[in-house]
Amino acid sequence: MLLEAPRQPLRFVDISTPKPNATQVLVKVSACAVCRTDLHVVDGELPNPKLPLVPGHEIVGVIAEKGKGVQRFKTGDRVGIPWLGWTCGECEFCRSDRENLCDRARFTGYTLDGGYAEYAVADERFCFPIPKNYSAAEAAPLLCAGLIGYRSLVKTGKAKRLGIYGFGAAAHIVAQVAKFQGREIFAFTRRGDSEAQQFAKSLGAVWAGNSEMQPPEKLDAAIIFAPVGGLIPLALKAVAKGGTVVCGGIHMSDIPSFPYDLLWQERTLCSVANLTRRDGGEFFEIAPRVPVRTTVEIFPLNDANEVLNRLRNGQIHGAAVLVP
Ligand SMILES: [Zn+2]
Ligand SMILES: [Zn+2]
Repeated sequence: MLLEAPRQPLRFVDISTPKPNATQVLVKVSACAVCRTDLHVVDGELPNPKLPLVPGHEIVGVIAEKGKGVQRFKTGDRVGIPWLGWTCGECEFCRSDRENLCDRARFTGYTLDGGYAEYAVADERFCFPIPKNYSAAEAAPLLCAGLIGYRSLVKTGKAKRLGIYGFGAAAHIVAQVAKFQGREIFAFTRRGDSEAQQFAKSLGAVWAGNSEMQPPEKLDAAIIFAPVGGLIPLALKAVAKGGTVVCGGIHMSDIPSFPYDLLWQERTLCSVANLTRRDGGEFFEIAPRVPVRTTVEIFPLNDANEVLNRLRNGQIHGAAVLVP
């Protein structure tokens, strides 16, 4: 599926199968999960996408062909292709273990073609082997919702009581890892979304309520996955002294002004950008041990526009996955 201009529906077009260069693999796509970031790209909320563009950055598939320099994988291996598609290895961020902030980073499904397609190419150095106990559709959401969710979770340090605002794809994965680590989950959803609140409780949340509510006890940290700036003052209010609020999304509506009192007493507010390959390695080590189970709704690739609409309207529980 091709995005020709922001705010336009995706179109299904026949394009020739891409050729892998020396360090790339050609992957026959088995499944590609749909992320809120895809919606931000399609809606024109992120600057300078590659155009025309094949969206999608949570890809699982099988290597059909490989470049001459490919060493980690062989033809027939199953791999996952994440959002971080390429980094320069030379800038100050790359050289200080912060490749997620690379000045010249390229991103799958944004500045590189992604996985809403039958085939995708990817640099092998940024692909991950997929644990055997996951089907392709179950594994696809791990590649962004899982990885970036995990990075957000790490940013909360040792927080015991953890708030999660927005209970979609990332939250449903993070909640499982957090519970495994002995944390207590407090889930915040859109007002009246009792289905999402039930879903959170079924995954072990000790409390679930509307975003405007204050939890029954002060939290040690909160992660905001919903793209709503107005949640930041609410989350700061919900955390105790010294607490942390992590914004896990790539885009948010403007943050309303709020009194300094909400930040005072060493509360921390930070964002999480992208992922590093180390995050991926750690997450794919822990995920099968939890074991993280993903709740997926599977759609044919041709339904991509419809799926994006459903995601926009909060009508997906767990993660949506496109299958060619
Ligand atoms: Zn760099
Ligand atoms: Zn994503």
